[in-house]
Amino acid sequence: MPDLYLRLALPTPLRRLFDYRAPAQVPAEHWQPGVRVQVPFGNRKVVGILIETTTTTDIPADKVREALELLDERPLFEPPLLELIHWTASYYQHSLGDTFSWAMPALLRQGEPATTQKKRFYQAAAGATIEDPRIKNAPRQRQALEAVLQHRQGLAHEQLHNLGIQKTSIDALVDKGLLFTEQRSLKSARPGGPLLAQPALSLNAEQKLAVDTIGSALHHHQVFLLAGVTGSGKTEVYLHLIEQVLKQGRQVLVLIPEINLGPQTINRFRQRFNVRVALLHSEVNDRERLNAWLASRDGAAEIVIGTRSALFTPFKELGLIVIDEEHDGSYKQQDGLRYHARDLALVRARRLGVSVVMGSATPSLESLYNAKNGRYGLLRLNRRAGSAQVPTFQRLDVRSLPLDSGISLPLQKEIERTLAAGQQVLVFLNRRGYAPVLMCKDCGWLGDCHACDARLTLHQRYNELRCHHCGHIEQRPHACPKCQSLQLHPVGAGTERAEDRLQLLFPKVPVVRIDRDSTARKGSLDAMLKIIQRGEPCILLGTQMLAKGHHFPQVTLVAILNADGGLFSADFRASERMAQLIIQVAGRAGRAEQPGKVIIQSHVADHPLLVQLTEEGYFAFAEQALRERRAVQLPPYTHMALLRAEALNPQHADDFLRDAASLLEQLATPLKAEDVECLGPAAAPMERRGGRYRAQLLFIARQRGPLHRLLHGLCFNLEQLPSARQVRWALDVDPVDLY
Ligand code: ADP
Ligand code: ZN
Ligand code: ZN
Repeated sequence: MPDLYLRLALPTPLRRLFDYRAPAQVPAEHWQPGVRVQVPFGNRKVVGILIETTTTTDIPADKVREALELLDERPLFEPPLLELIHWTASYYQHSLGDTFSWAMPALLRQGEPATTQKKRFYQAAAGATIEDPRIKNAPRQRQALEAVLQHRQGLAHEQLHNLGIQKTSIDALVDKGLLFTEQRSLKSARPGGPLLAQPALSLNAEQKLAVDTIGSALHHHQVFLLAGVTGSGKTEVYLHLIEQVLKQGRQVLVLIPEINLGPQTINRFRQRFNVRVALLHSEVNDRERLNAWLASRDGAAEIVIGTRSALFTPFKELGLIVIDEEHDGSYKQQDGLRYHARDLALVRARRLGVSVVMGSATPSLESLYNAKNGRYGLLRLNRRAGSAQVPTFQRLDVRSLPLDSGISLPLQKEIERTLAAGQQVLVFLNRRGYAPVLMCKDCGWLGDCHACDARLTLHQRYNELRCHHCGHIEQRPHACPKCQSLQLHPVGAGTERAEDRLQLLFPKVPVVRIDRDSTARKGSLDAMLKIIQRGEPCILLGTQMLAKGHHFPQVTLVAILNADGGLFSADFRASERMAQLIIQVAGRAGRAEQPGKVIIQSHVADHPLLVQLTEEGYFAFAEQALRERRAVQLPPYTHMALLRAEALNPQHADDFLRDAASLLEQLATPLKAEDVECLGPAAAPMERRGGRYRAQLLFIARQRGPLHRLLHGLCFNLEQLPSARQVRWALDVDPVDLY
């Protein structure tokens, strides 16, 4: 019998496959593409994915190593998902093995069996009642039995624990024969009963049109952009569509942005349906993540809700993909495999022939462009559901107004009025810490990061200077390091400083600061949200954590302390992001009966973009922005890729990119010169970061085809370049952030 070789994708950045000899004792038919195989790699053991088997290899017979273990009985990845992962690796020019790593739960990557753990369930014995004389004087046991009796399907151990029931009570009930236990895998079907756990709301006319239109396309592939102002009832539209898909016996994938304030959204899905909802986001631990993944694969979870990487979850029968807040930047991964979950979800849906609903109050220009040219169906929800009004905007020119900790006097008055009327205020400031820089009044010294081209942020609460780019932290100096003067002053305001000032101005109301620092401790966010939910006058102050998917019904005034950053950035997407952020923050106001007002402090209050956004709305802004993009041939009218390099020595990064540029020239000769344009090498906008010098080469093309052919040839050759050994490099296809 000829030797059998296994061609594997291994978790390494190298863009190639690796051959191993198949152990003779495993029958040949067990080696199916998509199974995991453990192999020796250098002096480690790694888990690879079998791509194909062959009877020949280029590796000399004495060098080829033998695989150690076949880990799966059946392929972990079925053909459609395998193809998607191949497609992803090729589109993003990434190593196939590493792409697999990003696409699977950590435990599977580590070689854990792909089977659901069994759980112990407790169920009431036939005829058991809390009137049983044996527990007459055992209130805890009565309480435990009562809880179990309320759940026909029984309760898992940790559910009982969550209900505050102690193990000793349970054990006593088991001893008395009132409870019995059963090992059950989570595969068991949905908890019986009707599909809807809660009645659906009756839709308004706009919602109904959206549900009818999308609902009639559920049996083939079509993409819909549901552009609805905040609070217009997009989630309700998703829920109605999901109901239809569940009735067909199919599953639904719901992608959500990285959670900050997400539980509210998730609970709405859980409360509506009597089905199993699996969660895949950063706060889910590895074991739960694996269970969710398997439950989805086996069809035991009907709805999967997750952040970006959930897009790679296997499904038994997927029927619909929902992408909430499709414009959100967190759908794009910024390291390793730089994929865009929205774009990949669309690819997956097309291949499977299922529809996609993407919702946003502020759709990305890419999606609006696709809606305009007819590739996506556009559905608008222009009115808020229920009685809530759309807020009004006021641009407050602060050029000649003194700002105290970022707050002008007219704004202060407006806050006072709102609080006096018994309402809540939301103050938005997208800058953590106390002040963005510490300065010496005598010699002009500024606190810089030693490793980055950036200032250190003063964090007064910790008496520290921190770099928000590399994580460096140092003690706040007592005296100026340059001239020893004691005149060190914070310049500008971050959320800590605004908090202090607001608390001083309004000592009678709580000031709740919500940012990454104040919510770092588990449970602290919940505690803060509780204060807000009480509905009494208070000030909520925070960064963009506040802009995401939350309802603050008592907020009637939203103040944006500084919106100017987005108007003067080198990144062509900055104004789009600014507009989205303003509209999203504004959308938190006046969601209940009270109308909302939004005040935007600006030094350029008459800037045309700001005027258009606040007077004509996001869609007028977006139309104009698209016209500008077309005029200067930027995405979505062209396609980009960015080759980034970084090195301790700036020369090394530059050398590598120059080599890359000349490689490109050789490769590009067969292509027409105008097909792909190459700009650079140039220093990155923040050249030094974390002690490394960063430079980049930008490719722009009118069409994807030529760009991709070129990138493919390029990456292959780049790996071989001697200058590549001295740099870290990465290719970013469709970059969303040019830094
Ligand atoms: P969005 O997702 O567009 O921000 P939501 O779906 O969260 O909007 O809806 C906003 C609020 O309006 C929610 O409190 C929701 O329960 C309510 N709502 C949505 N649709 C309806 C409807 N058809 N009738 C009554 N209330 C609705
Ligand atoms: Zn000084
Ligand atoms: Zn730094």
